[in-house]
Amino acid sequence: LAMDRTMIPLGSCTMKLNATAEMIPVTWPEFGNLHPFVPAEQAQGYQELIAGLEAMLVEATGYDAVSLQPNSGAQGEYAGLLAIRAYHASRGEGHRNICLIPESAHGTNPASANMCGMKVVVTKCDANGNVDVNDIRAQAEKHSANLAAIMMTYPSTHGVFEEDVVEICEIIHAHGGQVYTDGANMNALVGLAKPGKWGSDVSHLNLHKTFCIPHGGGGPGVGPCAVKAHLAPFLPKAFGEHGVRTAGTGNGAMVSAASFGSASILPISWMYIAMMGRDGLRKATQVAMLNANYIAKRLAPHFPTLYTGRNGLVAHECILDLRPLEKLSGISAEDVAKRLIDFGFHAPTLSFPVAGTLMVEPTESESKHELDRFIDAMIQIRAEIQDVIDGKLDRADNPLKHAPHTAVQVSASAWAHAYPRELAAFPLPVLKQVKYWPPVARVDNVHGDKNVMCACIPVDAYKD
Ligand SMILES: *Cc1c(COP(=O)(O)O)cnc(C)c1O
Repeated sequence: LAMDRTMIPLGSCTMKLNATAEMIPVTWPEFGNLHPFVPAEQAQGYQELIAGLEAMLVEATGYDAVSLQPNSGAQGEYAGLLAIRAYHASRGEGHRNICLIPESAHGTNPASANMCGMKVVVTKCDANGNVDVNDIRAQAEKHSANLAAIMMTYPSTHGVFEEDVVEICEIIHAHGGQVYTDGANMNALVGLAKPGKWGSDVSHLNLHKTFCIPHGGGGPGVGPCAVKAHLAPFLPKAFGEHGVRTAGTGNGAMVSAASFGSASILPISWMYIAMMGRDGLRKATQVAMLNANYIAKRLAPHFPTLYTGRNGLVAHECILDLRPLEKLSGISAEDVAKRLIDFGFHAPTLSFPVAGTLMVEPTESESKHELDRFIDAMIQIRAEIQDVIDGKLDRADNPLKHAPHTAVQVSASAWAHAYPRELAAFPLPVLKQVKYWPPVARVDNVHGDKNVMCACIPVDAYKD
């Protein structure tokens, strides 16, 4: 079930549609068949591509240099924190090892800080999900002598723009620390605001989120590390003596086995930026936010959005709070995620960053028709939950608890459930025209995780 049939509204993942034109250059042998270690003079086209993309990303972020070496967002974080550590050491302040991380952060942030030998100090969030500036100030003061950095995400993983971001940068700098802005949510910023201009020192980007590299199923990705000039010398170095060198090449440790990481997929982002242009990128950002707010507003009477900014708006994603309904009905966020499959939807992000919620990020890729299709499905699901609350549907044997329903189940001679087959398979009339049939029914997630099995052919089969 892929993006040609449904939006994949995974919050925090920025699952965009990709133009075929963006993908075509990847198939050209000039890009696809070049060894990463060929002598520089044999890779002049790549140099132009890489330097051009670096310049585009510098322009988009307001930083001064970008390394394309990291293969993922998390690796970009690692490269960025290594640069911060090396910068402190170069100034005789190598003892700085405290990294402040708000509790709303993505799990990769504390993991990266740990891998860089930093000590993580978690700071609080307030009732609206915003980082607590007072706690940041208190922790920065307390750890002033050893403060290395803060890692904060903007807009946050709660889907809101935090208004104190400039003040937070000032506080951290006043105590000798560096500001790491997790740039995974750049889809709410490109063309509108630049982290390098509001006081941040370093960010990673996710080219496989904001800049269109397809990333279903886990890869490959590119997590460029973008820095202000004072950190540029500490960006990862290039491989060997003869490797390609660009503005984004420093003298820091390599974080990947090749100078420019997953270089063969860089044409995708290059094409995306070149074809969109400055105005197109801004429009994409605006539409991404409009789409998220459209979903949040239309669903508000049915599923409240957990966190919003001062004007009741979200950024590029919204967290739908299902916990109050679960108390009344016993229907969990997971049941809703599974039921969405019966409507032909890939589930939103489940129970992250807040347990018992669904986080929806439509991106600018989706048409109003597709947004309405999703909203209609969610409204129908809300009605089913109401039927459970009202006793019209059984609390244990209802279409939500048993979702998704396969064609084999629905067409079998026997049907033992307390609800009609038609409700199982066709909860909305439109599904009789366009229907996605899931290949498997509900699985036991925990059992599956604990009982790993190998689906490969046994070695015996290769005999003879
Ligand atoms: C996706 C994401 C990351 C990690 O990026 P990967 O490419 O998955 O390693 C880090 N922070 C945030 C906020 C993200 O959404």
